[in-house]
Amino acid sequence: MQCRSCGTEIANKAIVCYRCGAATTDPVRKAVVLKRRRSPLPSFVVAAILLLLAGYAGYTADTAVDPNAWRTVAGVLAGAAAMVIVLGLLRRR
Ligand SMILES: [Zn+2]
Repeated sequence: MQCRSCGTEIANKAIVCYRCGAATTDPVRKAVVLKRRRSPLPSFVVAAILLLLAGYAGYTADTAVDPNAWRTVAGVLAGAAAMVIVLGLLRRR
């Protein structure tokens, strides 16, 4: 399929465009916006989500037309997960 934002050809299973980062699907629930800023998601939940996405990107790389791009995405997500964990630990002190 093509990215709706930049028109780049991306894997059908892709959830975000590897080039511009635009989501390939509409949010399921548009009305529900996280407004409770006082209670952000626990950092470990964010890290877990990032790691899941990293795993997904790594899995996608096996079948993608452009595997190196997906491996880069996986690496970036894994790095972001590590950062979230570190920042979360630092914040608790
Ligand atoms: Zn795009």
